[in-house]
Amino acid sequence: MSRSQSRKLTGDQSRLVSSALEAGKIKQIARGSRHRNPCADRVAIARAMIYTSSMMTSKFSEVDTWIFDLDNTLYPPEARLFEQIEARMTEWVVDALGVGRAEANEIRRQYWARFGTTLAGLMREHDIDPEAYLDHVHDIRLDHLQPDPGLAGAIAALPGRAIVYTNGSEAYARRVIEARGLSGIFDAVYGVEHAGFLPKPERLAFETIIARDGLEPERAAMFDDDARNLVAPMALGMRTVLVARAPSAAPHVQHHAPDLAKFLRSLA
Ligand SMILES: [Mg+2]
Repeated sequence: MSRSQSRKLTGDQSRLVSSALEAGKIKQIARGSRHRNPCADRVAIARAMIYTSSMMTSKFSEVDTWIFDLDNTLYPPEARLFEQIEARMTEWVVDALGVGRAEANEIRRQYWARFGTTLAGLMREHDIDPEAYLDHVHDIRLDHLQPDPGLAGAIAALPGRAIVYTNGSEAYARRVIEARGLSGIFDAVYGVEHAGFLPKPERLAFETIIARDGLEPERAAMFDDDARNLVAPMALGMRTVLVARAPSAAPHVQHHAPDLAKFLRSLA
């Protein structure tokens, strides 16, 4: 192990190294390096990394259901699909409520903050037809998406079942999954319609999907790019993983995965 490799600790590994240091465990492992022998330093770092890697694996060893959000989780935010969806959401609000674009965007911002999604706010405040809305907003181009064989391999190698749970519709999720070369990997795909159009982050939405699927939350891990969507999973007993470039110090974010495929491979 080189020093450059030792610098490539993920956020989780760094956190685990820190907690192990606090516990005095790595001090014991690294005791031999106090005489400043560079070779011993490298051995100590390698041992510490093996120790933290095994701690990571043990945290997920009980997991038999791997739940993935879709947008900006199973594809990188650079694909900017949500920009297309947002433009179509605004169009819908303009047409349905007869307001200008600026007001429509402000309404959407408020609904997102208050209800979790624009759809939830439109249903709560304006009793709109959710299926027509979902068909409209998800009618977007997916040509920015590339197949990701690395991610496909990492998800396929997970022990147990892998499922998708999105605030979009199942039909849209399946189009995205196909465009990413992830077809045939997931055991189930749930959209917002499967939770009675109640979106994440509502706890009842998660409970509805859990009951429908039959999964045990204590043996599940939830991956999402929106930290709000990890609050209920954590409370229900799941492992929580934030899939995003920037980490979060929120107590309901247990793990951080800047690169999802790499994170999943680290659990093998
Ligand atoms: Mg998302």
